[in-house]
Amino acid sequence: QLTMRIARRLARAGVASRRDAEAMIAEGRVSVNGKVIESPALDVGPKDRISVDGEALAAIERTRLWLFHKPAGLVTTNKDPEGRPTVFEKLPAEMPRVLSIGRLDINTEGLLLLTNDGGLARVLELPATGWLRRYRVRAHGSVDQAKLDELREGIAIDGVFYGAIEATLDRVQGANVWLTLGLREGKNREVKRVLGELGLDVNRLIRLSYGPFQLADLAEGAVREIHGKTLRDQL
Ligand code: URA
Repeated sequence: QLTMRIARRLARAGVASRRDAEAMIAEGRVSVNGKVIESPALDVGPKDRISVDGEALAAIERTRLWLFHKPAGLVTTNKDPEGRPTVFEKLPAEMPRVLSIGRLDINTEGLLLLTNDGGLARVLELPATGWLRRYRVRAHGSVDQAKLDELREGIAIDGVFYGAIEATLDRVQGANVWLTLGLREGKNREVKRVLGELGLDVNRLIRLSYGPFQLADLAEGAVREIHGKTLRDQL
């Protein structure tokens, strides 16, 4: 549909989440047909000229999706209050403005999905999506069958239940173990919390897949766009 609320339109263009777009409107940063708007209660169509901070919004963009191999040391926020480097600063200059689908902690590596569609980002990062996220983990400590069973059955920590985590022990390396985990919820800091509860201190965490999308051979720091049919089939 081509006519929509202004905040939704901004989210579709990848400017910000819908909520953040509403805040931008309240701050007087958005204009429609040459006039700064004062309220998000406005419908816009394809003929309306929209700009943000004086910059024109291109015609409605189709949804695009990229895979990014996040290196350790980057935060997944637009602006870090502590000034640490962000994922978004490390993307190729020709990329349009994108949002991440969910987040990875600063020291977590691996697959991060990026999209220009704020609405899509919101939907796909919800625990309700139920997409499997697979991680390879190195943790200090030891693992036995009882711990693997506990993960599979689910663990409650401070009143939050972390359910049904598939875990396999890949190998023991000195005082560390390497595990592969499969989670479906995407709760904040889930891997570190759950393993911490079992006396395992995570010191390396790499996301291998997110729903149907795989890190595979994507080089560290590289982005790869998912095109056309593949994208429609998988969303
Ligand atoms: N679980 C974590 O603890 N950290 C991440 O970055 C992702 C999942």
